[in-house]
Amino acid sequence: MTKYIFVTGGVISGIGKGITTASLGRLLINRGFKVIVVKIDPYLNVDAGVMNPFQHGEVFVTHDGAETDLDIGNYERFLGIDLNQYSNFTTGSVYSEVIAKERRGDYLGQTVQLIPHITDEIKRRIYQIGKDNEAEIVITEIGGTIGDFEMPPFVEAIRQMAVEVGRQNTMFLHVSLIYTLPNSESKSKPTQHSIRKLQELGVQPDLLLCRTSQSLEEAFRQKIALLCGISEEYIFEGLDTKCIDEIPLNFERQGMGHLVLKRLGLETSPPMDVEWAAMVEKLKNPKHNTRVAVVGKYTTGSDAYISVQEALKHGGIANETAVDIEWIDSESLTEHPDLDNVFKDVDGILVPGGFGYRGIEGMLVAARHARENRIPYFGLCLGMQCLVIEFARNAANLKGANSTEVDSETPHPVIDLMLEQRAIADLGATMRLGIYPCVLKEKTKSYAAYQQPIIVERHRHRYELNNTYRSQLEASGLCFSGLSPDESLVEIAEVTDHPWMVGSQFHPEFQSKPLAPHPLFREFIAAVLRHQQQREEGPEKDAVSLTSVTF
Ligand code: GLN
Repeated sequence: MTKYIFVTGGVISGIGKGITTASLGRLLINRGFKVIVVKIDPYLNVDAGVMNPFQHGEVFVTHDGAETDLDIGNYERFLGIDLNQYSNFTTGSVYSEVIAKERRGDYLGQTVQLIPHITDEIKRRIYQIGKDNEAEIVITEIGGTIGDFEMPPFVEAIRQMAVEVGRQNTMFLHVSLIYTLPNSESKSKPTQHSIRKLQELGVQPDLLLCRTSQSLEEAFRQKIALLCGISEEYIFEGLDTKCIDEIPLNFERQGMGHLVLKRLGLETSPPMDVEWAAMVEKLKNPKHNTRVAVVGKYTTGSDAYISVQEALKHGGIANETAVDIEWIDSESLTEHPDLDNVFKDVDGILVPGGFGYRGIEGMLVAARHARENRIPYFGLCLGMQCLVIEFARNAANLKGANSTEVDSETPHPVIDLMLEQRAIADLGATMRLGIYPCVLKEKTKSYAAYQQPIIVERHRHRYELNNTYRSQLEASGLCFSGLSPDESLVEIAEVTDHPWMVGSQFHPEFQSKPLAPHPLFREFIAAVLRHQQQREEGPEKDAVSLTSVTF
């Protein structure tokens, strides 16, 4: 019998439901249960593909090419599993499907309504993903905040599910804010109100996770337990923390895994997430400190680059170093008179993915600075395209080289629209998406990272390296170390005469996990550490250590 856990959020958005869901999943998967996770987004977009990452956070890409909410990335990282398109759906996708069925006549003339047709479609999807994965536990997170206009159909669907599968096989978990007054008094009223709202919709939470900036006192817990109808032992504390990876351990310490399983009537063996705890230990006690510049369109450390941030952190774990990020707005670089000063505190430069022409010239400035000053550089998708454009212009003498995405009139379109993209007008779900195999060339930095001839990586792009320029770029010292199996597409480019300057047309950050750091991020950070050590040792030692790491 599959068990179902539903996660809702109260009081404010961005309360941490995603990390809570991922952390609980971690506790359960660590006990050997087959767990699958679903995120429902109540907005009308059909998927996250055309949503602005600055407003909504990164678009996370799954193996099968779905463009999903960033929480899917959190789930994959915490649970250590790969999810697919069925792990994320929206109001838009539910309605599209129901309306398509109605148009086909599938409802045989019935009046099509919110209940039961929309709620049935929501339930069908949750049941189906459990079946497809033979899951023992399905955790479903409902995005948004209780009280939002879009919420009721989803809460109604999960209420019905609890009746269908039995209340003993269902658990409702509510994540809510405990507000702290300036005088340090904890206030529970907003949380009480959000639970009332849930109760009005027919759902009584079994477990309350209190997001709070200070520890909750016994009397306070007793009060919320009484007023919210939740047994006291099921009131948990989610203290603010900078280290999200520590959260599963914090939950475990409070006995969450055991109590959730007890509530669901499942056997539970003693928890010992030794591997995770060791990883957190390394994260919290690094031997070194490094600093990397991320040069992108969005300056803040916003959620737009969350997988990149996480993957850099994983690269740090593999090298026992903390990795601080210096966010640099690429638009600020073109006019900057003193680049040495801009990059003076960093030992690596990363240019992440992106779309459109804005900020590109600044990314090219960063790539040139990295190449000429032998600073480790890692380019992800657009960052790889920038590596190629910069190299074409300044090392291969192709004046005015560009991507046709940036300049359709460029004399040297070294990056160009893929053939199969030319006739496509729609923006949604039409890119080269999801996993593709890539064959690596031996004796390259990429091969040294992966240590295997064939890899599989996730893509999300329309443009590619223009093959017309391949031989010219190669002759000037660019190495195409990763190609599609039929050799028609360049997937990785690296600068031969450089300590570590690598760009991938794919997005390695999506596959990096805390317990399995991505090989390219691991090697990038290793190169960053070497650069830092060389700087500290002084220039005369450079030549010796550089030759040992350059192919
Ligand atoms: N805009 C580029 C393209 O479509 C890069 C995409 C990306 O970085 N994800 O090819």
